Amino acid sequence: MQVTVLGSGTAIPVPARFPAGYLLTFDDTVVMVDCGPGTLRRLATAGVPLERLDGVLLTHYHTDHCADLAALLFALRSPHFAGRRPLRLFGAPGLLRLLQKLTEAWPWLEPRGYELRVTELLPGTFALDGAAVTAVPIRHTAQSLGYRITAGAGSVAFSGDADICDELVELARDTDLFVCDCAMPDGAKIDGHLTPALAAQHAERAAARRLLLTHFYPACDGHDLAAAAAAHYRGEVILAEDLMALPIGAPRFSGAPPADDGAGGHRHR
Ligand SMILES: [Zn+2]
Ligand SMILES: [Zn+2]
Repeated sequence: MQVTVLGSGTAIPVPARFPAGYLLTFDDTVVMVDCGPGTLRRLATAGVPLERLDGVLLTHYHTDHCADLAALLFALRSPHFAGRRPLRLFGAPGLLRLLQKLTEAWPWLEPRGYELRVTELLPGTFALDGAAVTAVPIRHTAQSLGYRITAGAGSVAFSGDADICDELVELARDTDLFVCDCAMPDGAKIDGHLTPALAAQHAERAAARRLLLTHFYPACDGHDLAAAAAAHYRGEVILAEDLMALPIGAPRFSGAPPADDGAGGHRHR
């Protein structure tokens, strides 16, 4: 399994960080977690043509997380993609209504030449090809879900936008990588979002092995976010950058199970 950051930024345009989006690949499956505006281009830059995209998991319906949904549905109507595999969309209740309203405004988003499968999710676990996906309600909007994805020996959790809540700890429990909201520096917290110290405290309670801080507002510029997080967390802290790729879980070896190499920095456990 591998995670590639497509957008580590927010609704405020800056050159280096697109709004929220992540590429997740496991086995032959390719999904996005969120698709903020511009992240379809990032997907292309990451080397993934739309033919290969199997689905999108949406954390919530703020436009910095889902505005490229319209661009995606319009693109897929092109004869270029005729007969492609079905596209699967997942999100909290409200997704069908969002699609209905989008299609009212832009009738040319109606699927043509491919099948669109839409699933409104309740909290719980479902199978997505070779992975188990758990949707957990997260404190941000009334329709916010975090996702925990387990495939093979690896696991990753995506907070989406998040404020302080125990559900985040449940979501990230024992994961290999916890991708977490870090919208603002410490001392400048805003409603509905976290800071590096707060993200780190959740990651520490969850015993997540690595913490990927992301969703940086411009106010984060010039702050040592990694140091602020490391003061509250014993795992590895990583600051997201667009197009950063992170392998999840141990590589698979044939024969004997991999030995503990004693390396890998300070592990949590
Ligand atoms: Zn939001
Ligand atoms: Zn956001």
